[in-house]
Amino acid sequence: MKEIKAEDTKFIYFTKVDGYPKETEMGLSIQKRNLFMKEKIERDYRDIRAILTRWIDPHSAFINYLYWNDNSDLDNLDLKVEQGIFSDSDFAHSVKTSYQLTRCPSCASKWHTLILDLDAYFDAPGLAQKKLSEATIKLCPNCGAMLRQLVVKIWDKAE
Ligand SMILES: [Zn+2]
Repeated sequence: MKEIKAEDTKFIYFTKVDGYPKETEMGLSIQKRNLFMKEKIERDYRDIRAILTRWIDPHSAFINYLYWNDNSDLDNLDLKVEQGIFSDSDFAHSVKTSYQLTRCPSCASKWHTLILDLDAYFDAPGLAQKKLSEATIKLCPNCGAMLRQLVVKIWDKAE
């Protein structure tokens, strides 16, 4: 894992080899760990990387999920991050997200989702607006209704 700044926002990047963040990382107490996402991260690294966002409390950090929707080669990006040779363009199609169990207001089905986390861009409000304007917001896979949340990825239907 490596603390980096890309597109004017800071975070701690976990490569595929780093795996899912443990309860304590780099002396920080890790908040918002989630079993569903742990399993996803350990199985499917194609379009997401776990990252940590430092917050006001200097002893803790939140888990976010950096999600790319453009088939970027993240294995190659892992190497670039480790070597410190990445650039902002590597992250241009990524968004910081949080895991959320989202319920469709129309058909009441529930989904494991990633939602655009604007709070995670607290250190770059202009970038948050840019990510919001460029985001493709997903509709309910069951009935097609708007989910009224900033859903950018839908995994599975929840029981
Ligand atoms: Zn629905």
